[in-house]
Amino acid sequence: MQVDRVIPSGYCKGVINAINLARKARQQHPDSKIYIMGMLVHNHYVVEAFAQLGIITLYDPHRSKIQLLDGIDEGVVIFTAHGIDPKISQYALNKGLTVIDATCSDVTKNALLCRQYLDKGYDILYIGKANHPESEAVLALSERIHLISSLPDIDKLPLSGRPILVTNQTTMSLLDTAQLIEAIRERFPGCEVVEEICPATRKRQQAILDLEGYDTLIVVGDPRSNNTAQLASIARGRIEHIYKVEKAADLLDCDLSASHKVAVTAGASTPSYLTDQVINYLRTGDPDYLRIDISKVIQLQEV
Ligand code: SF4
Repeated sequence: MQVDRVIPSGYCKGVINAINLARKARQQHPDSKIYIMGMLVHNHYVVEAFAQLGIITLYDPHRSKIQLLDGIDEGVVIFTAHGIDPKISQYALNKGLTVIDATCSDVTKNALLCRQYLDKGYDILYIGKANHPESEAVLALSERIHLISSLPDIDKLPLSGRPILVTNQTTMSLLDTAQLIEAIRERFPGCEVVEEICPATRKRQQAILDLEGYDTLIVVGDPRSNNTAQLASIARGRIEHIYKVEKAADLLDCDLSASHKVAVTAGASTPSYLTDQVINYLRTGDPDYLRIDISKVIQLQEV
């Protein structure tokens, strides 16, 4: 069986920056409590690795970020690469917490675009995923930003008569976003479109679209990671067998008996170490690669 790594895949610059900021925070505040608001990246092994450094992830889908902050009286709080509602970071500052903002520059650029168009009087149609931290942060900017997650959302939109900007979450699928933009253009022919899929997401998806001759794709990543899910979704109908795994041990549940040429990719939030384990196990069958050393999960390597 031939096994090839898809290039590029894995950690992007925004994730590397966020992990570096969190590690630096531990060095600079050795005696402080340090919290991350939400998952620094959508990968629970990364969460575990930070827990080993005494950095606690605040995550509870049943409580708001303000409620989570209410449980903290002192220390450092890190906001993730996905961006944060400015009202929430101000709330943390007002509580006397030290705030570290790891928002990715591509996410900041998109938020700035939205603010500029809101100031110009536009309504914004934002193509994104419901309840994702990046879309939540953008939607918090104004009630004039409307989330579009699927085609039916377009028909439900109220017609305000204001000019319309169409933009999107940075980690969306190239193909799904293009389809939604086309449908929005049909309903609102005069709309302006600024497509904002970030370069890292675009390159990782394009690398999948460019694959030729592979019968199997293995996508390594956490089930909660949007960019990982998009890599699998973009391959559907192009590659016969697609498996999503979190770690090498999950390969034991995959039937690879009909696989001859295997490509391995990983979302921008997937530790390179876990992808290496998957590739090495596929190539050698050595059970050592099924074991995970959590301390290696936040070693950094951009591919
Ligand atoms: S996926 Fe793109 S927007 Fe998100 S952190 Fe990485 S580079 Fe930034």
